[in-house]
Amino acid sequence: MTYDKNNIFAKILRGEIPCKKIYEDEYVLAFYDINPQKKIHALVVSKGEYVNLDDFSSKASDKEISGLIKGISLVAKKIGVSDEVKGGGYRSLVNIGENGGQEVPHLHFHIFGGEKVGKMVS
Ligand code: AMP
Repeated sequence: MTYDKNNIFAKILRGEIPCKKIYEDEYVLAFYDINPQKKIHALVVSKGEYVNLDDFSSKASDKEISGLIKGISLVAKKIGVSDEVKGGGYRSLVNIGENGGQEVPHLHFHIFGGEKVGKMVS
């Protein structure tokens, strides 16, 4: 799997393109989606150069894997959609490859919330 260093999220990670940043640590950068599909729509992007979840699962270190998973929950809390808050709850999903509908070839999880997110697959 070849990683394209010119994908849009790689450019955001390098600071070449701006984003509405929510959170950043050693493992993830999180920002709001430019074209929100729900009231709240955030993206949690791996800091490492991975094309998708399969690439990440096979190459990333355990620290990177736990950092990304923890990052999703942390970001959900930061944007107020965590299940711990009243009226909270959210959906996180990752698209993988062509049939999965992945547009940007750099691993990222979506977080949808702020309202009922509806049917799981349409
Ligand atoms: P996916 O289809 O899973 O690859 O999702 C890619 C997501 O990235 C889409 O929801 C886009 O709206 C979003 N996106 C594309 N470019 C940007 C950008 N410059 N800033 C924020 N989100 C973006």
